[in-house]
Amino acid sequence: MNGLQSITKTTLMGPGPSCVHPEVYKALAMPTIGHLDPRFINIMDEIKVMLRQVMGTKNEITLPMSGTGSAGMEAAFVNLVERGDKVLVLVNGVFGKRMAEVARRLGADVEECEFTWGTPVDPDRAAEKIREKKWQIVAIVHAETSTGVRNPVELIGPMVRESGALYIVDAVTSLGGIPVEVDAIGADLCYSGTQKCLSCPPGLAPLTIGERAIAKLKNRQTKVPNWYLDLSMIMDYWQGAKRAYHHTAPINMLYGLHAALSVLLDEGLPKAYERHRRMHEQLVKGLTSIGLELPVAEAYRLPMLNAVTVPEGVDEGAVRKALLETYDIEIGAGLGPLAGKIWRIGLMGYTAQEANVERVVRALQEILKR
Ligand SMILES: *Cc1c(COP(=O)(O)O)cnc(C)c1O
Repeated sequence: MNGLQSITKTTLMGPGPSCVHPEVYKALAMPTIGHLDPRFINIMDEIKVMLRQVMGTKNEITLPMSGTGSAGMEAAFVNLVERGDKVLVLVNGVFGKRMAEVARRLGADVEECEFTWGTPVDPDRAAEKIREKKWQIVAIVHAETSTGVRNPVELIGPMVRESGALYIVDAVTSLGGIPVEVDAIGADLCYSGTQKCLSCPPGLAPLTIGERAIAKLKNRQTKVPNWYLDLSMIMDYWQGAKRAYHHTAPINMLYGLHAALSVLLDEGLPKAYERHRRMHEQLVKGLTSIGLELPVAEAYRLPMLNAVTVPEGVDEGAVRKALLETYDIEIGAGLGPLAGKIWRIGLMGYTAQEANVERVVRALQEILKR
């Protein structure tokens, strides 16, 4: 078997995974130790402290769930939804749709309030919908990776709080690239993933849950219908003097996350956000100079995920193939209704560097000239 021998370095400039920081690779290769070893418990405790800083929260229960970002999404709904609950999802892309699907599978009474893909959730229309009935949960994606649009989670938060519903925010792509101030936004539960702006491979889903959501979890009429993601048990594994075994934490992935959070906090959150913004501006300038256009209005663009219009008559798949085969650069295709219409260029975490921006623009220019 020689599959591994084919692996060479690719510059990951798609919607995730993104480039991994060298410190994270080093951490991943460290010796595996026991998951109840005091040294490992110390690592778990340090991760919780760093995650609170990165997520902008004082929530005691702030921890990485085992699994990719989707495990964070699943955990959010499986813990907070009870059969028949009224759930409102503000949808403007693939990941909003997916939230609604997850909630429906749990027997929730789900309504999707949809906004045109490529535009943000409109706070006024959202407000009307939130006031329309008594919702148990309102959910939204902060950075909609399928379109490159930033949603106004900070404007929706107070409306949800006033309505008495719980507020779930997907911060998979935003965390580490733009501010995710969980407490300021008023999110009751917020989850993320390691493979986007945290410069870490896929495998963990940072999650934070506040008092109001914990109260709902504790007062459930029925057990959480998923054993592996049941936060009421996972909490006891991640806190207290005595740790109750639930499942074996993915030890080396947690080393990796520890290193990734350390790197991010050493750089400083404001500096990291500023770097993403600068690289985005440089990319926009470069793309514009070679005649490419970005479909999302400037005010709502995400710095870490850039939707680019595929020019008329260009075979978008062939361009991506040439980028990968000739230049070792991966970019993403459009999803759903945007398939074939856009490329998605990611500038996430360690990927967001000047040299990468220059390379992708030059490569696109050469390919499109042919
Ligand atoms: C990538 C992504 C997810 C899913 O994360 P995985 O790591 O692929 O499981 C969820 N929500 C958003 C907004 C994402 O970009």
